[in-house]
Amino acid sequence: MVTCAITSCKNTSAKISKNTHGITFHRFPKDKGRRRQWEVAVNREEQWTSTASSAVCSEHFEASDFYLTERGLRKLSCDAVPSINISACQPVEPTIADLEPVDIHPNDTEEVINLKYKVRRLEVLAESRRRKVQVLWQTKRRLRIRLARMKIILKHLISAKKDKVTEM
Ligand SMILES: [Zn+2]
Repeated sequence: MVTCAITSCKNTSAKISKNTHGITFHRFPKDKGRRRQWEVAVNREEQWTSTASSAVCSEHFEASDFYLTERGLRKLSCDAVPSINISACQPVEPTIADLEPVDIHPNDTEEVINLKYKVRRLEVLAESRRRKVQVLWQTKRRLRIRLARMKIILKHLISAKKDKVTEM
């Protein structure tokens, strides 16, 4: 049985399956440096180290950490590091498994089902990108407002200084 290395996460391969929950388990990288990055990211007690069977479930990766193979399989990119819902103190973020199930008709072939899942995953990827863009736009708008305020303050400061100069 595979358990998720994130202490606050209760996902195990016994309870969770890829087909019903859309959750997959990913072993720690073999590369020493990257393995260490994962060990730090999972926030365990200081003396904890990963073993060959240690794994993290897909709930802790961003949609952009995955790519789709030509056959529609979801694979983890080789530079991905767990970042979502890794600590109990963090606000819970939506994960890639928040996929609505696809509706399967009794006469759908396996290929059609795979394609339906592929489309659904692409929709999730597109949605997460759309959300990121939205956040960037909001940040931009906020910065613009701040900049406008700064300009007004600056104008006041300049005119106040001018007043002082003319008083003298
Ligand atoms: Zn997990």
